[in-house]
Amino acid sequence: MFQASRRDFIKIASLGAGGLLAGPQLWADSDPLYERYGIKKIPTYCEVCFWKCAGWVHFDKSGKPYKIVGNKADPLCNGRFCPRGTAGLGMYTDPDRLKVPLIRTVRDGKQTYKEATWPQAIDYIASKMRKIIDEHGAESLALFNHGAGGKHFGRLFKALGSGNIAAPSYAQCRGPREVAFHSTFGAGVNSPENTDIKNAKCLVLIGSHLGENMHNAQVQEMSTLIDKK
Ligand code: SF4
Repeated sequence: MFQASRRDFIKIASLGAGGLLAGPQLWADSDPLYERYGIKKIPTYCEVCFWKCAGWVHFDKSGKPYKIVGNKADPLCNGRFCPRGTAGLGMYTDPDRLKVPLIRTVRDGKQTYKEATWPQAIDYIASKMRKIIDEHGAESLALFNHGAGGKHFGRLFKALGSGNIAAPSYAQCRGPREVAFHSTFGAGVNSPENTDIKNAKCLVLIGSHLGENMHNAQVQEMSTLIDKK
């Protein structure tokens, strides 16, 4: 088990967001230290991109979250978040983060937003959708969605009687890929992809921006592959 001195603790704590990738190696199995310093951690997953790496949020003894790291047991991240995920805590603490719904309105002849409660916002949206259904029928509703949250709206639209649900990203990204994989291998590639990059003999990337996209486990596998060469 890793035994950290107080000096180590201060050093680790002062790493801040930029140094968090080193965190899990040092802390993952050091529960006695958590107890000693009043640190708590709860499991979570990262919603910054669709990869959805599993991780841990760490709270200091005042209950403030101060660090988020990957979960070693998750093969999608192998204990390491990408820089975007690591910065996720900054999104949470950003003073400009939206915490209440905003409804567009006109004030002094100018378009602006006003804060609303969730019941007010939901009632407002429901009244607009109800108006469309009453005047034009449920099939006049159309949903363009993306990401995990979109699924809930998809169910809502189906329950209301509209099957007009589309994901523009499918045409731009997954659609051609899925069709090509079905045509070539008889099965889709899914997402995250069922690939074995680290053991590839030859990796050809066409129109792909693996590193920029920072699909966590894939980038780790690509680094492993490059190191082997
Ligand atoms: S790849 Fe990065 S941004 Fe995407 S879920 Fe994982 S840690 Fe979050």
